[in-house]
Amino acid sequence: MKFLKDNRCSRKLYFPVRGKALRLPIYFPSISSVKTGLSPFDYFNVLEALQQTHFLVSAFDIDKSFQREEFIQALKANRSKNGAIILMDSGNYESYWIRDKSWSIEGFNGILKHDVSDLAFCYDNQFPPDDSKENATGVAMSTKKSQEVATTTSIIPIIHCKKENLSDAVLELCNQTNSPMVSIPERILGDGLLERVKTVTNLRRELNKLDNYTFIHLLGTGNPFSLLLFSLAGADSFDGLEWCQTTVNSETALLYHFQQRELINDNCTFCKSDEFDYNLTTLGHNLAFYNDWMKGIQEAIEANSEETLLHKYFDAKFVNCLTKIWS
Ligand SMILES: [Zn+2]
Repeated sequence: MKFLKDNRCSRKLYFPVRGKALRLPIYFPSISSVKTGLSPFDYFNVLEALQQTHFLVSAFDIDKSFQREEFIQALKANRSKNGAIILMDSGNYESYWIRDKSWSIEGFNGILKHDVSDLAFCYDNQFPPDDSKENATGVAMSTKKSQEVATTTSIIPIIHCKKENLSDAVLELCNQTNSPMVSIPERILGDGLLERVKTVTNLRRELNKLDNYTFIHLLGTGNPFSLLLFSLAGADSFDGLEWCQTTVNSETALLYHFQQRELINDNCTFCKSDEFDYNLTTLGHNLAFYNDWMKGIQEAIEANSEETLLHKYFDAKFVNCLTKIWS
C-alpha cells in the first residue's frame, strides 16, 4: 500500500518531552470523573503504582477533587522525581457532562500554574466559527493565553470543525502557530471506521507537504482496532478511557464489559497473581495489553510489516477497502 510506504519515510518514531523520547504511536490512558468507577485521584494512584510511564489527567477533575491539594502535590512530586509524562486536558469534557458552566480558561490556567503536567491541550471551543481562518485564530489565541502562564507545560492546540473543513482548519492553524502537534476529536472524523480512516489519511497527506512534521493527536480514541487503523493512517498519539471502562480480550483485542474479566483469564502477570483485588487486577491486565498493543504497532511500522498485522485482525474484504484508501 503506497501511502503506508510513503508515510513511513515522513513519520517520526519519537516525540521528545522533558528529556525523554516517547515512542510513537502512543496511547495515553485517560483519567476522568465521568463514566468511570473510581475517583481521578484513585486512578492516578493506580497508574503510579503500576509504573505507567505516561497518562492523561483533567484540569477540571484536579480542581474539583475532594483531595485537591493532595492531588496537586502528588502530581508535582511525580514530576520532581522524574516520573511519568503527564498530559493534561482542559476539562471541558468533564464540565460538559457534569453540567458545570462555570468552568473557564481562568480555572484551567489556575491549574496550569501549579506545574503538574508536561503537555496540555488548550482550553477548547466546542462550537467554533465555520470559517477556517477565524476558527484557527481563536484556537491560536487560546493556546497562546495558556502558554503564557505555563512554565513546565507545552500547550497543544485542539481543532473542532466539520469533517469537510478539517484539512483547511489544521493547515490554517499550522500557518498561524508553530505548534509541533495538533489535536482533533475522533468523533468529528466522520461515520464509521473507513470514513474516519480516510479523513485521517487525507489530513496526513496534506500535513506531509509542509516543511516541518506536525504530530496528530486524536482525542477519545482507545479502541484497539481504532488505535491500529488510525496509527497507520498517520496519527501519532491518542487518549482514551477504555483501559478503565472495559476489559480487553488480549487474544482477539475485543473489548468486554469491565466486570467480565473472568471470561478472559490470560497468562499476564496480573491474571496469574491473586495478590490484587478485582479492580486492580483488571486495570493492570488492561494496561499491560495496551502497552503491548502499541508496541506491536510501533514494531510493525518500523519493520514494514503493517499489512501482516492487518490480515491478522481483519478479513480480506475489509483489508481490500483499506487498500483502496491507501493505494
Ligand atoms: Zn491478564
